[in-house]
Amino acid sequence: MSTWHEYVQKTGKVPEWPYPVDYGKINEIVCDVLVIGGGVAGLRAAISAARSGVKVAVLERGHAKRSGAGGAGVDHWHGAVTNPCSKVTPEMYTNACYDSMNGWTGGHVRYIITRESWDTLLECEKMGIQIRDVNDEFKGAVFRDEATKLMFAYDYRSRHVIRVWGFNIKPKIYEEARRLGVNIQNRMMPTALLTAGGKQGAKVVGATAVNARTGEFYVFKAKATVIATGGAGRLFDFAPEVTASGSMGNMNASGAGEALGWKAGAEFVCMEGSGPGRLTGYAYAPYSMANAHNTYHGAPIVDADGKEVPWVDAFNRPVKNVEGRFLPSEGQDFILGEGIGISRYAEQFRNNSLIYDLPERVRKGEFKLPLYADLTRLSEEERRCIFGMMVGNEGKTRIPVYDIMTKAGFDPDKDLFQAPVTMPEGYAHPNFWSTGVNTPPTVRSLGGGGFLTDWELRTNLEGLYVGAGGNLFGGGCHGESHTTGRYAGRHAAEYARTAPEAAVDRGQVEAERESAYTATRQSKGGNGWKEINAAIARIMRDYCGEYKNEQTLKLGLRLLNELKTTELASAYASNPHELGRLLECRSLITVGELAMKASLERKASNSMLDFHRIDYPQTDPPEWNKLLPMRQENDRVKVRELPLDFHLKAPYASGYEENYKKYSGA
Ligand SMILES: Cc1cc2nc3c(=O)[nH]c(=O)nc-3n(C[C@H](O)[C@H](O)[C@H](O)COP(=O)(O)OP(=O)(O)OC[C@H]3O[C@@H](n4cnc5c(N)ncnc54)[C@H](O)[C@@H]3O)c2cc1C
Repeated sequence: MSTWHEYVQKTGKVPEWPYPVDYGKINEIVCDVLVIGGGVAGLRAAISAARSGVKVAVLERGHAKRSGAGGAGVDHWHGAVTNPCSKVTPEMYTNACYDSMNGWTGGHVRYIITRESWDTLLECEKMGIQIRDVNDEFKGAVFRDEATKLMFAYDYRSRHVIRVWGFNIKPKIYEEARRLGVNIQNRMMPTALLTAGGKQGAKVVGATAVNARTGEFYVFKAKATVIATGGAGRLFDFAPEVTASGSMGNMNASGAGEALGWKAGAEFVCMEGSGPGRLTGYAYAPYSMANAHNTYHGAPIVDADGKEVPWVDAFNRPVKNVEGRFLPSEGQDFILGEGIGISRYAEQFRNNSLIYDLPERVRKGEFKLPLYADLTRLSEEERRCIFGMMVGNEGKTRIPVYDIMTKAGFDPDKDLFQAPVTMPEGYAHPNFWSTGVNTPPTVRSLGGGGFLTDWELRTNLEGLYVGAGGNLFGGGCHGESHTTGRYAGRHAAEYARTAPEAAVDRGQVEAERESAYTATRQSKGGNGWKEINAAIARIMRDYCGEYKNEQTLKLGLRLLNELKTTELASAYASNPHELGRLLECRSLITVGELAMKASLERKASNSMLDFHRIDYPQTDPPEWNKLLPMRQENDRVKVRELPLDFHLKAPYASGYEENYKKYSGA
């Protein structure tokens, strides 16, 4: 029997739970470095720690071979500014990101990324990932360097974003981690970080987890721990039956890393930041419709009569030809390229794009819908590179988009590729497939905030490090996550080498075990995880949406607490999978509380954080131009103030290079 339907029709019943369940069993794993989250960042942390000779374990929610936002591939790698063709230095790139965000991003993290991104990519190459045009498929193309065979995206002059054949990147780094003897524990849901003496704010000595297949309990004893769980999806919206096929996100992303850290006493910044939930999945499957952004950057867009939509540069001046779409214009040193974890680009570094007033011109009838990508207007190399090399390697596009369309007969040499037909506002951004107009405006996603770390990517807690895109203040996307993971893993290993054996507090372990299984002991009439998740999302949308005030935030906190102590406390899990999902709901509530508490602390509106307090309408008053690091001490929120450029202030040196030399351990 090969399908669900065949099984049900033949046996007349649904399958039994297929794994032996033993909620009472306790397993203990002892390691030097524990990595929580086996995505690209987590596996790179594990690899760099294991290479330095320490014993490493990975605790992963899914299966590390393909899990995470980076599990399905990547087509372009950002920030590789030290590659031999680059005209950009780490300082230039870091300052461009930092200045674009008016300082609201971790400058030290950005610098670490740009110093080590190229080295990290070279290691990928050694693991079997193709990063050059070794088969000379694009020989002579303007975006290729003949000597190194590297190929570039976005900015063909400055050459720091590298096009890669990354469809197999996750399996390859997974194999490397396995080869190095990393103990990868898949299908795990962590419940808590363990701390010395079980105390909040003390040294981190491991974690507890439940296996979401067998239900067994795990105690990980570790001298150092790296958090790399990615972001917090499902917080503002939960409707997988509606949105799953189009979702950019990862179903397992429940903000677990943040929740673990907050409970243990780690410090966070900018958790009050959020943005429109453009990528939540109400639109179209990623990259499955015509557009002119990211993977499709530079694609000519035409209207129903074949009239081409013009391009403009960052200063709204016409870009005259196709080549110009990939070059900095007058007044620009270089173009940063999009998808690097910042929400605003200063004009000096911004992309060329389709005309900004396209929605208005569609409304007036100047461009007739539907719009199409007409790839025939590109050079042959550019066309094959976009619909071929890039769509063939980008996350979630190799099979669902490239393979299916090609087998169905789509030929970019002669066919037009249709864009979504939607409201004119849907064409305001060239990423048409993720058009925000389909997503309810109340749906937001957290953005920009995360764990506050030092120059070693260590948190305020001894033994706790953070790598990864979503979890780290200053983190970015794919290449950035490999790079910070690798760096955090290196430092965690260095710490673990001289740290004493981890001593876990038995009382803390027992308390965790007791609370982890509550849902298996409840009445079968209790709510299920989906209802709880939907309720969390509703509370977040209503009480922590785009516009907030003190009353709504306090009400939101009350409602989250009521949900936790009533519906969640009496929710029922009929198997370890449901138990895992309910434990994720616990994480989601914690992250929601963290966002609301951070929102209460910032008594001013802030444009960079897209943060709007109706009761404090003044936007960006100078006295609030500061970070507000938050942590818990004895379960009470403690807030302090920190200048945006803290990473270049005492006890640190005033220059990036000097700090890097002192702290990188490279
Ligand atoms: C379709 C798509 C295309 C993309 N294309 C690009 C691109 O071309 N270039 C680019 O720069 N970026 C791209 N990105 C973004 C990039 O993939 C992410 O920024 C990157 O994967 C983040 O890496 P990470 O390791 O921090 O998180 P992830 O890759 O998401 O990994 C997080 C890991 O943590 C695990 N986890 C989650 N919760 C738990 C828990 N409770 N316990 C244990 N483990 C947990 C997850 O299962 C996962 O394995 C793309 C993303 C998508 C979705």
